[in-house]
Amino acid sequence: MTSISNLIEGFQRFRERHFERNDSLYQHLVKEGQTPKTLVVACCDSRVDPALVLDCEPGDLFVIRNVANLVPPSENRAGHHGTTAAIEYAIRILAVEHIIVLGHAHCGGINTLVRTGGVNNPDSYMADWMCLAESARASVMAEMPQASLDEQLHACEQRAILVSLENLMTFPWVSERVESGTLALHGWYFDIEHGQLLRFNATTKCFEAL
Ligand SMILES: [Zn+2]
Repeated sequence: MTSISNLIEGFQRFRERHFERNDSLYQHLVKEGQTPKTLVVACCDSRVDPALVLDCEPGDLFVIRNVANLVPPSENRAGHHGTTAAIEYAIRILAVEHIIVLGHAHCGGINTLVRTGGVNNPDSYMADWMCLAESARASVMAEMPQASLDEQLHACEQRAILVSLENLMTFPWVSERVESGTLALHGWYFDIEHGQLLRFNATTKCFEAL
């Protein structure tokens, strides 16, 4: 387990190895501002750090992390729409050219959704949040009721990525850019057990290893 003192020591190592040696990059990013070309929507899961998995430098990725890497649809109801606000910033201010929804195997959020049968619980913020993926769970259960729980979970993890891609298209400032060719959407899945990265192929309708 990482203790607070380990984290402070880690920051010292970061300063020595990356910040001080890489000073010009940080100074450039401060002077010129950030210009990431890619937005990644990833899970909070401690094993799925997009910058680490994709071996990126500071300034490369604009990252949103939430439980189960979900994107809500466009909606007018009041609330604090953290994920939606960050997506809007990435699109309308930073003008990113790609959005990757990065799902992963052994997702705790999807596990909870499947185990609870998609039932909402007014006492749980997480249950309400995971209802965003209920259509993914319901379709997987209808299509593969006899499959093992692991197979259902992996299918639901991947299906939820597609739900988020569909939800992205409900925002006019996303759909207009996709249709004009200035923005591309991608569904990726990180298999943390086998160290594989899979990409959704819209033609074959399958996730395929990269
Ligand atoms: Zn997860």
